[in-house]
Amino acid sequence: MGSLSASYFERAQEVIPGGVNSPVRAFKSVGGSPLFIQSAKGAYLKDVDGKEYIDLIGSWGPMLFGQAHPSIENAVRDALSKGFSFGAPSYNEVLIAEKIVSMIPSIEKVRLVNSGTEATMAAIRLARAYTKRDKIIKFEGCYHGHGDSFLIAAGSGVATLGTPDSPGVTVSTAKDTLTAVYNDLSSLRNLFEANPTDISAVILEPVVGNMGLVIPEPGFIEGIQQLCKTYGSLLIFDEVMTGFRLSSSGYQGLTNIQPDLTTLGKIIGGGLPVGAYGGKAEIMNMIAPAGPVYQAGTLSGNPLATSAGLAMLNLISEHPEVYDALNQKGKALAEGIRQQLSELQIDGFVNQIGSMFTLFFTNKAVKNFSDAKTSDTAKFGIYFREMLNQGVYLPPSQFESWFLSAALDEAHIDHILKASRIALEKTL
Ligand code: PLP
Repeated sequence: MGSLSASYFERAQEVIPGGVNSPVRAFKSVGGSPLFIQSAKGAYLKDVDGKEYIDLIGSWGPMLFGQAHPSIENAVRDALSKGFSFGAPSYNEVLIAEKIVSMIPSIEKVRLVNSGTEATMAAIRLARAYTKRDKIIKFEGCYHGHGDSFLIAAGSGVATLGTPDSPGVTVSTAKDTLTAVYNDLSSLRNLFEANPTDISAVILEPVVGNMGLVIPEPGFIEGIQQLCKTYGSLLIFDEVMTGFRLSSSGYQGLTNIQPDLTTLGKIIGGGLPVGAYGGKAEIMNMIAPAGPVYQAGTLSGNPLATSAGLAMLNLISEHPEVYDALNQKGKALAEGIRQQLSELQIDGFVNQIGSMFTLFFTNKAVKNFSDAKTSDTAKFGIYFREMLNQGVYLPPSQFESWFLSAALDEAHIDHILKASRIALEKTL
């Protein structure tokens, strides 16, 4: 008898394109049929067939404290009892904005939206309006959501599906997005030299999660900031993934590099749909109704979403030790898997920072998108399927980061490492 997941997926494909509402969920690059999740708690996902999995997707990032944390659940229940959506200001919006401004030093004013995609789209519109310039620069393999301007040499699902430029993105839109190579300042400098007065902003994931995890080399981000200053362009950190994941003030909190604008999402909604963009007040005051740059949202600042987000940010403030603890777990996992690779003589490379992690099936050190693409995705598929078989749910793509949560304890890390050993052996 087939599984319930498989039968749901068959039905889903009849009525939903590809059977899923976001591409990478479909297991297309790893093979097999996606699992339908019935419930989630702490470190575990439970599928509709009743099997439990250690959750290393964490809803693609938001679940810093694990699934259905009681503080967040209670906050949402409380908000729910007062109504779902008002279309008028509510006090939580003030509280969460104050909280974000207090936690992220470069943000003086912030606007809430409903997703990371909305945040990045609005941020580049604002940058273009502020600088009165049209072009942006992004880095190959960085993913900034599915806005047209960003589907140029994009990472994440776009890389996974092998469609680097989506049909439907017009040539005239694409010509305003220039792409540089991550960790290669000279590629960025060349673009600036060729377009000295045209670049409104450079947008990047300061630590990249969307080509798999890739970490900036020393001096790379500082160099970008310097070039932006020299050419009068804004620096936008897309911290949709890294915001509140790498520190309570994002990647920028680890380095003290302050971008002009920052985009946020994922953790900021505690698992409900929230995005945000913020930065210097002088720039943010250009947004309607304070200024002429239009951006709006029927459900923006929704009371359920803001209550979940606020509860999440409060948890982070109350538990600053969470980042050290997550880093210890990340390191234990990285060291364990590196050792397994060496014992089994498998070509593999592990990148890890804090609670973000990727095992690439390549013999190259992965510093940019070209390096990441040398990975053997067929081997990743074998590894992924065996991990699933062993009760560990990884993001179903080579070009994604695994997300560790505070709900994982030592026994979970041991389980993951044991599963990894078996899965690696399967790739031989
Ligand atoms: N920016 C980054 C760095 C992301 O990782 C993502 C999503 O994965 C986005 C933007 C888009 O966010 P959303 O999927 O909420 O639209």
